[in-house]
Amino acid sequence: MSHTVLIGQIEHETNTFSSLPTGMAEFADASLHYGEDVIADLTGTNTAVGGFLRVADDEGWDVVPTVAADATPGGTVTADARSTLLEAVLTGIEESNPDGVLLALHGAMVSEAARDGDGYVLERVSRAVGDDVPVMASLDLHANVSDRMADHADGLFGYRTYPHVDIGDTGERAARAMAATLDGDLDPEVVVERAPLLPPLPELRTAAEPMRSLLAAAADAEEEDVSVFGGFAYADVDHAGFSVVGVADRERAEAVRAACRDVADEAYDRRGAFDRDYTSVGDAAAEAAAWDGDDPLLLADISDNPGGGSAQDGTVLLEALLEAGVEDAALATMYDPAAVEAAAAAGVGEEVSVSLGGHTEANGDPLDVTGRVRLLSDGTYRNRGPMSTGLEVSFGRTALLEVDGVDVLVGSHRQQPYDPEAFRSQGITPERERVLVLKSTVHYRAAFEPLVGGIREVATPGLCSPDLSGFAYEHVPRPIYPLDDDA
Ligand SMILES: [Zn+2]
Repeated sequence: MSHTVLIGQIEHETNTFSSLPTGMAEFADASLHYGEDVIADLTGTNTAVGGFLRVADDEGWDVVPTVAADATPGGTVTADARSTLLEAVLTGIEESNPDGVLLALHGAMVSEAARDGDGYVLERVSRAVGDDVPVMASLDLHANVSDRMADHADGLFGYRTYPHVDIGDTGERAARAMAATLDGDLDPEVVVERAPLLPPLPELRTAAEPMRSLLAAAADAEEEDVSVFGGFAYADVDHAGFSVVGVADRERAEAVRAACRDVADEAYDRRGAFDRDYTSVGDAAAEAAAWDGDDPLLLADISDNPGGGSAQDGTVLLEALLEAGVEDAALATMYDPAAVEAAAAAGVGEEVSVSLGGHTEANGDPLDVTGRVRLLSDGTYRNRGPMSTGLEVSFGRTALLEVDGVDVLVGSHRQQPYDPEAFRSQGITPERERVLVLKSTVHYRAAFEPLVGGIREVATPGLCSPDLSGFAYEHVPRPIYPLDDDA
């Protein structure tokens, strides 16, 4: 007998320090699909929904696609957006009476009316379907997993890579567990163990220690599904932090819980291994000025990453590069809709003077620059690299401004440039630049590492700064490392 499985995505990583609220317009700017369009637009993509659909095809499920929504990380999700998206799922449940529900969530969504946004969604969905219908979700590695989330889910499955190159595989893991449950082969239970750790983004890279070993330990621990969640340090909520989550058959749940406990303890024991050194803005500019490698030097503006909710209009690094006289460089991407408007009004080939960036958060003052408009576009491109492959994303209306030998992409939507198509789609061949600047913390590594001769993680200001001492936390559980030495 064929099963009816309802699919939905309500995904947001909320940076509670951001002043930019996330409403329906921000979901529409990034990725928002309803009904049958969910299948048409996401089949074959390296996304969680793409993974759900692969398994649905194998299993011959009747799929009920409801909504797939994923906004660029930013400030608190409005009550309107949260209820609009949740209603799409709840209406689908009412109309289809599904045998199971698969959700693609982030796990660090904070909304106006529910600070545990994902716990709220899971509770509403699980109440709507009743106790006998399994509800399972894929989560980002940066999820802050709450008890409420675990209580109202029959399975939680996290990405095992950062850069997140296994998002589709994670969706597939969740869907395979759903298939086993629907077939009566699994009676699933979710177990959660925590460690008082709040690692900043760059420290969670999975090719580096300690995450590499912790993930290996989780993989070895049990044959059941174990996920290691680094947490999201920029969501100031009382369930923020590191967790290890297992999904096991009820009979095996306590053994799996013990395995999760061991990984969480190991993470805390090795807390010092998360700490990193970063390159100062001055050193980065000096090195860029002198760089004569065969392949480009990549400067990661790690703190002004829109993919972690930063404003993407920080000017500190660009200002230093211009002052140092760096040329043959390209930067992706500065968020400044007004500057794009001015460039469009001036026209391609013309000079334009703008007050660039620095309008949103405390990450540098606006830069008064004069540049030549080289290109105007709709800023839309499709990822070809290993991450979110096949997914269409957009900077919105985009201008390429050449300022003293630096090609600066200026966009109208906040969108992390982690795929080389960000450059290529705008007429820039990244391999031929001497210096590349990316507003990205870790994700760029998946596709750019093979193209460049060196990478520097530059300690800029911004809402993804690895220096957590600058954030005014009110809710995260204390003590927690690295805010507190001993927990
Ligand atoms: Zn993430």
